[in-house]
Amino acid sequence: PMPVPELLVRSAARFPQRMALDFMGRRWTYAALLAEARAAAAGFLDLGVEPGTRVGLFLPNTPHYPIGYYGALLAGATVVNFSPLYSPEEVAFQAHDSGTEIMVCLDLAKLWAPMQRLLDDGLLKDLVVGNLPEMLPAAKALGFRLLKRKERQRLPSDPRISAWTTLLRPGEQKPLPTIEPSAIALLQYTGGTTGVPKGAALTHANLSMNAQQLAAIDPQDGARHEGIVLGALPLFHIFANSCVLNRSILSGGSIALQTRFDAGEALATIRRLKPTDLAGVPAMYQAMLDHPDRARTSFASVEQCFSGGAPMSAKLKQRFEAETEARVLEGYGLTETSGVVSVNPYVGERRAGTVGIPLPGTEIRIVDPEQPDRILEPGETGEITVRGPQVMAGYWRRDLGRPEPLPGGWLHTGDLGHVEPGGYLRIVDRSKDMINVGGFKVFPSQVEAALMKDPAVKECLVIAVPDERVGERPKAYVVLKEVAEGHEVPRVEQLLENLSRLVGKHERPAALEILDDLPRTLIGKPDRKALTKREAEARA
Ligand code: ATP
Repeated sequence: PMPVPELLVRSAARFPQRMALDFMGRRWTYAALLAEARAAAAGFLDLGVEPGTRVGLFLPNTPHYPIGYYGALLAGATVVNFSPLYSPEEVAFQAHDSGTEIMVCLDLAKLWAPMQRLLDDGLLKDLVVGNLPEMLPAAKALGFRLLKRKERQRLPSDPRISAWTTLLRPGEQKPLPTIEPSAIALLQYTGGTTGVPKGAALTHANLSMNAQQLAAIDPQDGARHEGIVLGALPLFHIFANSCVLNRSILSGGSIALQTRFDAGEALATIRRLKPTDLAGVPAMYQAMLDHPDRARTSFASVEQCFSGGAPMSAKLKQRFEAETEARVLEGYGLTETSGVVSVNPYVGERRAGTVGIPLPGTEIRIVDPEQPDRILEPGETGEITVRGPQVMAGYWRRDLGRPEPLPGGWLHTGDLGHVEPGGYLRIVDRSKDMINVGGFKVFPSQVEAALMKDPAVKECLVIAVPDERVGERPKAYVVLKEVAEGHEVPRVEQLLENLSRLVGKHERPAALEILDDLPRTLIGKPDRKALTKREAEARA
């Protein structure tokens, strides 16, 4: 185990001139990236960062992110990731819960409003504000809405606000602190699909080990220095933190950074930079295949495609592999496991419908969800529990100012699954999404699978809604396929009737609503939380 910035320091010593980062054509070598991260570290120390000071990053995928991340870590800070899609309330909750004192953001309208509020509430001591043109002189807004002039006027007048360019102190010789691998590197908040978001306290050892575990199963044993990974997943999410950022920096590879995922842009980057590796959620692979530019984009350079975050259908996996000749490696992981628990191997059997084999040093136990002390037999389905070097120190406890350790180091994932011959892990469902209908357990995925059998249904999502009589009942949201001319659009009653023939009494939805599209989380998973929230608001 080593401190996270060591990944960058070592690669910069070995390959100073290799490209670490490409941001829409502008490039950073390893030497340049390390120099800027060191300069940022000096700036953070000047702002008063001490070991464990929480520094928030509220950034889309621009070079500010990797520079700010490694810079803050070099200065001994604990990074707190904030999603740019958070509402001001969510930002305030997380800033308060984590004790974030310094924040880095961009001068974009969306990011600015919640920052003003944090400053006004006295939660933030310092705010560092960057902008796009300082990274890419020719950059226009890249589709982001910029600040209005009046909002911009506040920037220079507030002593707590400084510019990104003054944070960077090039060449300044500041002694950097020694970092213990057991120190907390990152407070990464869970999506909060189930209740209040919780801060997973990930140590330097957790994060650097997950990168090394991934390198260890690399076909070239972590030596893919020529590798280029498409960096379209948001870096503030754990999937990209491990599979894109730390993994690439450890192995001396290159990251083709995109501000956010857009299928057309991703394909353009594939044509321009010829990446070897992709990393994404299934919806991204689907969107790339369905894009009109797909036909003129060669995937010949692409060797391995990491898919995770949500199950990839066998149909999509087959289609993607057949059309691109790249290998799809489906894996599984959580925020609490620094990214990755298991993955299908590049060499050897890629078993469709499974999430592969645990990474080296990772232990999996399947336990009885009702009696978590009871370990189940191989093949039996139960709750997946994980122990390994990548498993978090614990959930952050604001009241204690430290994480609450996991008993015996075992993480209870809230996912249900079993281990198949050969050690392949198969996820069956998520106990965290279970709907309790008067004591009867209903799994949304089963109702969703039944709904998908209806030829009219394109996509669906089932959530729990409160019910006076039985506590909770399922509610279904459905996106319909386009109806050919002359055919009738199916009615809600018809859909419910078709479904009632396929599911049990408790599984029958209390309601069914037709949507034009499902809401999605920032990394593109269908967003149960958004629908649950909407439902609660509608009822309030
Ligand atoms: P959510 O709870 O909505 O998934 P989160 O941010 O709390 O959001 P993450 O840590 O991002 O959770 O995602 C972890 C969860 O994603 C896992 O517990 C599992 O349910 C699901 N998951 C990840 N990879 C896969 C996969 N390959 N197949 C099925 N489910 C997966």
